[in-house]
Amino acid sequence: ESQRTSRPIKKAAFTYVVPEPVKEPKLLAIAEKTAKEILNLEEINNWSEEQKTEFLEVVSGNRIVKGTFPWAHCYGGHQFGFFAGQLGDGRVISLFEAINDKNERWELQLKGVGKTPFSRAADGLAVLRSSIREFLGSEAMAALDVPTTRVLSIVHTPKRMVQREVLETGSIVCRLSPSWIRFGSFEIFFYRMERKQLRSLTDFVVEEVYGLKSLENPEYEKYGNRYGRLFNQISRKTARMVAHWQAIGFCHGVMNTDNMSILGLTIDYGPFAFLDIYDSNWICNHSDYEGRYSFRNQPTACLWNLLKLSHTFQELIGAGDEVDKQWFLDANYPNEKGNDFPSMKDKIIRKGKEIIDLVLGEFQEIFLEEYEKIMMKKLGFQTLQQTDLEIIITPLLNFLATHLVDYHHFFRLLCSFSTTTSNSSSIFIKDLLTRSVDLEKALSDFNSWFEIYKQRLISEDSNDLNRSIKMKQINPKFVLRNWIAEEVIKRVERGDSEILKRVLQMCENPFKEWGVDPSEFQQEAARFCGDVPAV
Ligand code: AMP
Ligand code: MG
Ligand code: MG
Repeated sequence: ESQRTSRPIKKAAFTYVVPEPVKEPKLLAIAEKTAKEILNLEEINNWSEEQKTEFLEVVSGNRIVKGTFPWAHCYGGHQFGFFAGQLGDGRVISLFEAINDKNERWELQLKGVGKTPFSRAADGLAVLRSSIREFLGSEAMAALDVPTTRVLSIVHTPKRMVQREVLETGSIVCRLSPSWIRFGSFEIFFYRMERKQLRSLTDFVVEEVYGLKSLENPEYEKYGNRYGRLFNQISRKTARMVAHWQAIGFCHGVMNTDNMSILGLTIDYGPFAFLDIYDSNWICNHSDYEGRYSFRNQPTACLWNLLKLSHTFQELIGAGDEVDKQWFLDANYPNEKGNDFPSMKDKIIRKGKEIIDLVLGEFQEIFLEEYEKIMMKKLGFQTLQQTDLEIIITPLLNFLATHLVDYHHFFRLLCSFSTTTSNSSSIFIKDLLTRSVDLEKALSDFNSWFEIYKQRLISEDSNDLNRSIKMKQINPKFVLRNWIAEEVIKRVERGDSEILKRVLQMCENPFKEWGVDPSEFQQEAARFCGDVPAV
């Protein structure tokens, strides 16, 4: 048990610790898509009883696969603007890495399997509510083509009691990612001045996570050595990830640097939410009083987080060929005690800063490029025109915000619009304007936008049917709205795990025309699948 004692883990990126066994775990659901596509597991229906038992033992933490040595990651991070010191995996333990048929490496972890040295005053456990949200959230995001970590299974542990506001029962999610290394994994070494470890971790990420090849492109020469190139890649991936978030209307909620993946994947599904009405000021985290991580602030938060990450790389980026010199490793700069100005250290820091500024300076452009590309598809355009952001996208978002229009319903409805029939746009939009305080103004605002949109489609010779088919593959019919997740949680807590499997299927296939019997759902049943009145 002493291996679990909360303590600083110095000069190490992880520490070995095993899951705490639990009595009578029950398998609630398996994400079969992940099982099949990522882990190449055989179809669940064909598993023998023995295989099922073994699987449950592994994903509940009761069996350590022979020859594997589970570990918990050490990391720090800036939480709401301030460096928080050591955080680390307080309720997550990594089991092993698996290599699939595409030669991809995936690290499997269990969340909610007891204390680790990073648990601090907390219990190392997870309850159904948070596990279900992570389970469904990850798969919903993956199906919407957003870079994300994945889940494999969710287990209920009725015998393990967990004290939250009330006493609840525990739950364990098995989740996977090509790497769980975060911005905060570098920050902990940087702030502890553990230079050797910082260097090793960075080299590990360059060589083992990104692969040297991916950084060798001659185009990347301007980013200097391998560390500058790495930072450039992380920045690009992060920009693209958040572009997806903004385009699909996803609010993360806790974008602290310990929750930022170095692969630009969405990690840490906590208080996240998909938008209902389009509200750019939306804050989905109750404890985010200032709206630091509000919907509109997400790209800026990414940039700020990248800036914090850049500090940890600055010397490595600036050092170029000096990086292997012993004096560099020891931080014993040769001319530091002399009167040279600028000193060697100044020069290196400045060079590093130059490249970091270059990388961060490109963030906005990369973000916008990706965002516009996705919005172009959502709007059904074949090509992007320079004026689209200004003339089509921004005015549309203003319209949706002013008249409290549901973001996802709007785009799904837009898929069925025809440029050839004489259908007036008022009929088209009316059913989505139920919350508008000024219907007349809403209709006239919409008509103005719609005319421009329609002309834009006509100028592309857009074909109604082709466009509709394509648009329906990017604008989801089903969105994992918060109230849906809440309803699933309530029902699973009451013992109905079928609902979890069904909603998982919907998350996995969000573009399908789901037919659901409204009487099955207590709340807003007709909206469950993003249903809107027929057009
Ligand atoms: P988060 O806000 O989810 O990113 O978590 C911040 C830190 O708190 C991380 O180091 C987590 O591992 C840790 N943590 C959160 N919940 C628990 C828990 N129930 N037990 C132990 N550590 C936790
Ligand atoms: Mg976290
Ligand atoms: Mg969390």
